[in-house]
Amino acid sequence: MLVVMQHGATADQVQRVVETIGDMGYQARPMPGAQRTAIGLVGNDGLVDASRLAALPGVKEIIHVTQPYKQVSREWKAENTVVRLPGGLAVGGDQVVVMAGPCSVESEEQILASARAVREAGAAILRGGAFKPRSSPYTFQGLGLKGLKLLAKAREETGLLVVTEAMDIEGVAAVEEHADIIQIGARNMQNFSLLKRAGRAKKPVLLKRGLAATITELLLSAEYLLAEGNHDVILCERGVRGFDSNTTRNVFDVSAIAVVHELSHLPIIADPSHATGRRDKVIPMARAAVAAGADGILVEVHPQPDRALSDGAQSLYPEQFAELMREIRVIAEAIHRRVAEPLPLRRQLPEPLPGVCAPLPVSCAHGRSCLIF
Ligand code: PEP
Ligand code: MN
Repeated sequence: MLVVMQHGATADQVQRVVETIGDMGYQARPMPGAQRTAIGLVGNDGLVDASRLAALPGVKEIIHVTQPYKQVSREWKAENTVVRLPGGLAVGGDQVVVMAGPCSVESEEQILASARAVREAGAAILRGGAFKPRSSPYTFQGLGLKGLKLLAKAREETGLLVVTEAMDIEGVAAVEEHADIIQIGARNMQNFSLLKRAGRAKKPVLLKRGLAATITELLLSAEYLLAEGNHDVILCERGVRGFDSNTTRNVFDVSAIAVVHELSHLPIIADPSHATGRRDKVIPMARAAVAAGADGILVEVHPQPDRALSDGAQSLYPEQFAELMREIRVIAEAIHRRVAEPLPLRRQLPEPLPGVCAPLPVSCAHGRSCLIF
């Protein structure tokens, strides 16, 4: 339920509503806005008797949220959530953000080559799994912590931000330390204790749709993250199980993008790689995703896909990825959006450069590392 305050309601009036919600045995979530302040009420199972709140001074109206998910819904928050990332990159605004890289981090050479290639083509975020959820225990399980460190090194060298998966509660802290976005994979979409932990993390979360999850289930999983206090959530459509796995690995639910945009204020990106499982289908489905309004795409790219330790069949060659970028730029423009540019390169300099470093207020005290534009 939402208590909407009158324009110009005083801080005391807002406080009185917050206290009354507490007295009624629920929790209050005040949401100050430019136009109006609203106070969300959470912790209720069914309909709340709102008459006590409606009568308080400064209250304009009471909105009952009809969906099973609350804070995630458009009823709760009408305007789009924009997830802000370091360096001014943002997911959920005008720009379409491209996250690309190999399925798994395999070696320093491989992740650096991947990072350079995807940056060269214009991706803004590097993907790569260090902790891999594999169907078989006998296949490559990821490099773990070493993989996270390699991703951080690739970020240092290329300026790309990093998204990588946390597979369990213990892994969240390590991913939070090394990455810019914590990925929760499809298999863990309903791992509620993992969601609660990620909801307490200080970094944004990329939540992938479960293998056979409905959109309502996806949004309820996102609600766990918001309920714990993490509002920086990006959803991801990555295909769901169909009956025809001979043709594509999953069924890419492109309509989920438009449906989620209607039901929720959270941004949604698409993963045409896991959705199709086939390299030659990735570009057309990336085009479809951007045309449908996806706020970004997550694409697997490998310098040598035939040698990949996981998901080689769906990984693009770097030149195919460059072609994908060219094509989606045109599509984004046609719907009045723009593909986000990678952040400026961050280079390690041997000595502070006169005239370049000197004007910086911190005068290179941050370790002789300057931003060169
Ligand atoms: C991945 O992104 O590498 C991955 C394992 O994806 P999903 O969880 O969607 O299968
Ligand atoms: Mn993969």
